[in-house]
Amino acid sequence: MMFLRLLFRNRLAAMGAIVLAIILILVLAIPILPLQDPDVIKTSDRFLKPFSDGHLLGTDHLGRDLLARLLHGTRLSLAVGIFAALIAATIGSAVGIVAGYFGGRIDNVIMRGIDMLMAFPYILLALAIVAALGPGLMNALIAVAAVNIPFFARNIRGITVGLAGREFIDAARLSGMGHGRIILTELLPNVLSTIVIAMSTTVGWMILETAGLSFLGLGSQPPQADLGSMLGEARSALITNPHTSIIPGIMIFLIVMSINLLGDGVRDALDPRLRSGALSRPRAKTIVDRKGEVPADDGKGLLNLQSLDTQFHVSNRVYRAVNDVSLFVNRGECLGIIGESGSGKSVTALSVMGLVASPPGVVTGGAVRYEGEDLLAAPYESLREKRGNKVAYIFQDPLSTLHPLYRVGDQLMEAIQVHHKVTDAEAKQRAIELLMSVRIPNAESRIRNYPHEMSGGMRQRVGIAMALANDPDVIIADEPTTALDVTVQAQILALLDDLRRERGLAIVFITHDFGVVAQLCDRVAVMYGGRIVEEGTTTDILDHPAHPYTKRLMDCVPELGGGKRALAAIPGLPPMVSDLPPGCAFAPRCDKATEACRKGEIALSGSETRAVRCIHPEEEIA
Ligand code: ADP
Ligand code: MG
Repeated sequence: MMFLRLLFRNRLAAMGAIVLAIILILVLAIPILPLQDPDVIKTSDRFLKPFSDGHLLGTDHLGRDLLARLLHGTRLSLAVGIFAALIAATIGSAVGIVAGYFGGRIDNVIMRGIDMLMAFPYILLALAIVAALGPGLMNALIAVAAVNIPFFARNIRGITVGLAGREFIDAARLSGMGHGRIILTELLPNVLSTIVIAMSTTVGWMILETAGLSFLGLGSQPPQADLGSMLGEARSALITNPHTSIIPGIMIFLIVMSINLLGDGVRDALDPRLRSGALSRPRAKTIVDRKGEVPADDGKGLLNLQSLDTQFHVSNRVYRAVNDVSLFVNRGECLGIIGESGSGKSVTALSVMGLVASPPGVVTGGAVRYEGEDLLAAPYESLREKRGNKVAYIFQDPLSTLHPLYRVGDQLMEAIQVHHKVTDAEAKQRAIELLMSVRIPNAESRIRNYPHEMSGGMRQRVGIAMALANDPDVIIADEPTTALDVTVQAQILALLDDLRRERGLAIVFITHDFGVVAQLCDRVAVMYGGRIVEEGTTTDILDHPAHPYTKRLMDCVPELGGGKRALAAIPGLPPMVSDLPPGCAFAPRCDKATEACRKGEIALSGSETRAVRCIHPEEEIA
């Protein structure tokens, strides 16, 4: 279902599917259509024009009805093309899987054989095969199938080699499965979609090749018609009676075109990366489609988020990932955002610079102000100029930030040169300074390292150095230490803290760890289900958590030297943001929840510096 929906969202593929379906229906209906015998010769009716009496499409040089010959010919050409594709796919994939799975010498022998086949221009090879076997449609089919085997074998072998080294294949081997079973039950399902895709994109090609052989007189033999032989026979009358060539020509064009369009659509719809989003690349900037009033500037902070709403529109569901979130951060201040996985922290952070993938992401309300300027309304150029230069990001996984094939020094230099016109030598000097400022030893030699030559902690420091490259005013760090061990984490936190003091950086620090918040942050906002449920200074929140969720979250943190106690876990799961319950989103997991919690809007109440969204707070806030 999902597959068909995606397929038909692609207009061209849908058109291809419709044209092909019409052709198929016509061809399958041949026995019940009132057609004349395609092979009856009546020389008195030679070369009748289309729309003549009794011959809708006219007749050919022997007076045979063209409509009947066209439909019979199409049926034959389609059958031969599809059959050849099936044979080529079956044999080619089998060869490819075996070669890829066993590897080593077997792979070598098989693939060198395939290479030899590929070394000949394939039309020449097909001609040679037909010449050896003798002309005839069956032999043309064999020839076309044979020359396409290498294509499937190469494709499938490549994928199988990648799969054969994976853990699930090792696991299957360890569980005692034989080779045959592993290939059939573990490998084949994984390559099947590739085979289907390769087939759907080559059937059209094979129909053309068969038609080519028939055109040369090597395929179907008279009086039997296929599209190629019809063209071949009409060749001599091309000028005097063009309709005899144009009609089969148009049919070949329609078939090949519709199959190729459909094949491309199938490939796109089967690609899991395209399945989750739309069939288009994300834009350079998140779509902003604000329904209500843009909030007036309240002058708070250096970076100020006001009632921000960010949603994902996936088919007909709406995921309210960020829901009326207001936050601000001053120069030299560190704001923590804390919450379970899926609570909307990352989407909040990405919304600031328009980095949420669009589609499906849409900012539907609120404002993001940087020094008072509304970034949501800003043109892309202005946003691009600020990205990395004024507001920089540090992400969780440095390996996904750094390009694996470039030296870290070059990547740092690039980050600098995007925003500043400096010479390579100056940029390099600056890159070294940056690496030293994030305490990477031997910075001069380290800039020549590739990312994989560094440890996780070092890579994360390079990530931080990159964020610092243009002396930004705000750094948004999205769980920058989650992938690191505790000692490295402590060093990185200390580093960020120093930078904040030395350079007056404003830091937005996203985490799910209260220990980290305690070390670094001045103020904290707690998020749940896309909303802020509590905010306040770090000391207030750590000492007097007011929202039951905050309290439960803190109970999950083990304490060194705190003696043995059962570690609490919060029962239940975070809500799906596509259908949030009315009232408090935490109510279903909260043991203090009452009737009132489950209905109506619960406001964030309190002062500017201390607020909670709860009817039954753990403690009254000051
Ligand atoms: P976290 O707090 O762990 O950083 P996120 O901000 O990444 O959480 O995600 C918030 C919510 O948005 C989650 O419920 C997630 O499922 C949803 N979400 C994120 N990206 C997409 C997307 N591309 N399509 C649909 N939903 C998404
Ligand atoms: Mg996240």
